[in-house]
Amino acid sequence: MIDQQDITGLILAGGLGTRMGQCDKGMLPLHGQPLVRHVLQRLAPQVGQLAINVNDHADAYTRFGLPVWPDMLPGHLGPLAGLHSGMQHASTPYLLTVPCDSPLLPPDLAARLAAGLIEHNADLAIAVTDELDAASGATVRRPHPVFCLVKTSALSQLDAYLASGERRMRTWHGLLKLAEVLFDDGRAFGNVNTPDDLAALQTQGLSVPMAQAMLAGAAAPVAGIEQLALPQALERILAADIISPISVPAHDNSAMDGYALYGADLGAGLDGSAPLTLAVVDTILAGRPGTVTVRRGECARIMTGAVMPAGCDSVVPQELVQQASEHSITLAPDCIGPGDNRRFKGEDLMQGKPALLQGKRLGPAELGLLASLGIATVSVRRRLRVAFFSTGDELRSIGEPLDAGCIYDSNRYTLLGMLSRLGCDVLDMGIVKDQPQALEAALRGACASADVIITSGGASSGAADFTREILARLGDVAFWQINMRPGRPMAFGNIASNGHAALLLGLPGNPVAVMATFYFLARPTLLRLMGADAETASLPLLQVAAQAPIRKKRGRTEYQRGIVERSADGRQHVRVTGAQGSGILRSMTQANCMIVLHEAQGHVAAGDLVDVVLFHGLT
Ligand code: AMP
Ligand code: MG
Repeated sequence: MIDQQDITGLILAGGLGTRMGQCDKGMLPLHGQPLVRHVLQRLAPQVGQLAINVNDHADAYTRFGLPVWPDMLPGHLGPLAGLHSGMQHASTPYLLTVPCDSPLLPPDLAARLAAGLIEHNADLAIAVTDELDAASGATVRRPHPVFCLVKTSALSQLDAYLASGERRMRTWHGLLKLAEVLFDDGRAFGNVNTPDDLAALQTQGLSVPMAQAMLAGAAAPVAGIEQLALPQALERILAADIISPISVPAHDNSAMDGYALYGADLGAGLDGSAPLTLAVVDTILAGRPGTVTVRRGECARIMTGAVMPAGCDSVVPQELVQQASEHSITLAPDCIGPGDNRRFKGEDLMQGKPALLQGKRLGPAELGLLASLGIATVSVRRRLRVAFFSTGDELRSIGEPLDAGCIYDSNRYTLLGMLSRLGCDVLDMGIVKDQPQALEAALRGACASADVIITSGGASSGAADFTREILARLGDVAFWQINMRPGRPMAFGNIASNGHAALLLGLPGNPVAVMATFYFLARPTLLRLMGADAETASLPLLQVAAQAPIRKKRGRTEYQRGIVERSADGRQHVRVTGAQGSGILRSMTQANCMIVLHEAQGHVAAGDLVDVVLFHGLT
């Protein structure tokens, strides 16, 4: 297996972009950010190090904070020169190259190429896909040589090849041991060669994983840190690693009420089955270590949690012994094994070792663990301040009369609930009318007091003209069309007013869309801002069999409301709650899970395993 840390990911941005009018391709905007940033976000989780191969406008690329490695060969020779530069610069045994204009590159590119390289004991692995040839109707294998994983030790071979005057990538491949790794989705390797390609990508919308990556990339933890006493720290995020000041337990101790003895005495008799008689020389209670030396052939009465007497390494539970006399017991020598029922010093935690890492959310077990170390106060991130409001002239607050054509504002209450459960400080800013002045005033007011502003409604393309204009004036906000259902439109960016900045998450208006976009897009972002680690910020997906077929459109991520239940045969299955309309909030109250149907999935047949996220967890 190849360790991810042993791979350097190199983004090839050294080309001339000839067919795009000699532009800097990596800097072309897609969904409000440069193409190369999309690539970076897809690649970063797959490799140990990252770098960019650029020849012109290198300064524009340095802002990504990565090393920039220009070609080492004269003249623009294309990807082979970039690869050559990467192999020279990389300090890892493997180099993975991808083009800067392939924002849909597979999330498992590195892992699969690495597996192929190992399996074929190759020097170089490239991605290939099968494509239907429109003319002949035959399936043809298409190589994607720029998506390649190469051993950096093949550099001398490449140098020799280039020295011979050769320049072609495919010819060089012929000289190496090459592994071709078949990927099933050709679209993942699509790149932008013409303005039309870019426009097509834009209208294709943003995939959920890409939106999630863009959000994760933009969310840095709040800087504020507080020292809190343990009882106040529940549900907060640790701001610093906790190094164990002591070993837990501090001594070897007994796991049972019984008799501590020498394991070596157990099989000591000539006849291993003859009962063993041991003198009881001490009684040791929890919290009160023994005072008598226990020798071979002796034992000490001991209670659970009490310190093991020196030399003794095993405990026989009291129910397995007979009292032989007032001060001796007998037991069968094989009733326990040597070492049984002894807990080791430090088996829970060793002094000096990390007990909890920063980014961990403090639940009941973590509070208990901290207490077991004698730690009374901890460094945690301050609470995140989140302002939220609903937009729409049709909305009425509870308590107000419902005028004709109006609806009660439910989103504010779902948002209040979801934000409170996350542990945010919430600021409910009420309903904001569909009027430019009202919206601008609300956004400015929210900026003044919050880290994050969450709005619902008004993000869809039709409604948003003045919204766009105001947001453009206040900052840098992109309007996304996400390939998800429910919840296609969403606005995301930073705004500022009077020197106060805030992150804006503009969620759709439909009540179920608000919940889906909150849970799968806003929630991980908020958790990252709160300082949570990646594991805390992501939700575990479980697999359950679908009870009945589920209709699903390929090319978008669908979040259907489901009920996981146990059928008569004792197996779990999941079924969809009735109507799945994005306005039907009742579906969320009936469901106990979200069924997550991924982009590449089509219709689900009965019995197929599907991913679900359960609403309720144990802790
Ligand atoms: P919009 O994105 O503003 O076009 O809203 C989409 C749909 O969601 C419309 O039917 C709105 O009436 C509805 N909606 C918007 N905001 C809310 C809210 N706060 N509570 C309930 N429904 C809402
Ligand atoms: Mg509206």
